[in-house]
Amino acid sequence: MVLDRLRRGAFARDPKKIPDGLWEKCPGCQKTVFKRLVEERLDTCPECNYHFKMGARRRIATLIDDGTWQEWDAEMSSADPLGFVDSRPYPERIAQQQAKTGLKDAVLTGRGRLSGIDVALGVMDFNFNGGSMGSVVGEKIARLFERARELRIPAIVVSASGGARMQEGVVSLMQMAKTSAAAARLREARVPFISVLTNPTMAGVMASFASLGDIIVAEPKAMIGFTGARVIQETIKQELPEGFQTSEFLLAHGQIDLIVARQDLKAELARLLAYLKPAPSARGAHA
Ligand SMILES: [Zn+2]
Repeated sequence: MVLDRLRRGAFARDPKKIPDGLWEKCPGCQKTVFKRLVEERLDTCPECNYHFKMGARRRIATLIDDGTWQEWDAEMSSADPLGFVDSRPYPERIAQQQAKTGLKDAVLTGRGRLSGIDVALGVMDFNFNGGSMGSVVGEKIARLFERARELRIPAIVVSASGGARMQEGVVSLMQMAKTSAAAARLREARVPFISVLTNPTMAGVMASFASLGDIIVAEPKAMIGFTGARVIQETIKQELPEGFQTSEFLLAHGQIDLIVARQDLKAELARLLAYLKPAPSARGAHA
């Protein structure tokens, strides 16, 4: 029935009348596309291959072999260290984000098999408060690296974040140092870490663990950077080059290693992991 009405152009004049959940407008090509087709293509546009934002649970399902996922720190949830109130108290904001997403915070971490390879995987979710990194995200990512090191299995983190979580103030900024230190210990132990950057990966996350991968992969046309382009432009009073802060720009300037379309991501990660097998623990080499 909805299809009939669409054919008659009932929704054509007012995109707001497009029924929820059936069609969506692609921000890449501006076309209205059938949502089921988008989902079949792992949340990419059938017309232009625009990569829509993908939630953490769905991302895990697309990367991890069925029945092998074991979540870590599933119950970890944020405290309110500063008693922070903006338009609403922080605990209320967290409760609302939890109800909206079904997540405790903006990252899921755990262990599973990717094409048969044992990995430690973390996936951020932009839908939870803009994927912001507060104490829970930082702690879960740091623990992910520590467990990967103990288990000697490669770590993969799929990032999607607007940056630090301002409601946690300096506690949030500290997560940058903590996650970076954990990534460094992982590197010292010669256990590989692949960082996957998705749209958007900005600010405190990009300025810490997300840019520290042994291999840094990005999805096409993702926005990746530290400060937003507008603020930079206003500060330096210069025009920024075209495509600034996109995956393609960063690849051309040597800041990332490769761009992989989402449909190929699992196969590509498996290929990279085969190259990067953790070095066998050097017996007697350390105290
Ligand atoms: Zn499109």
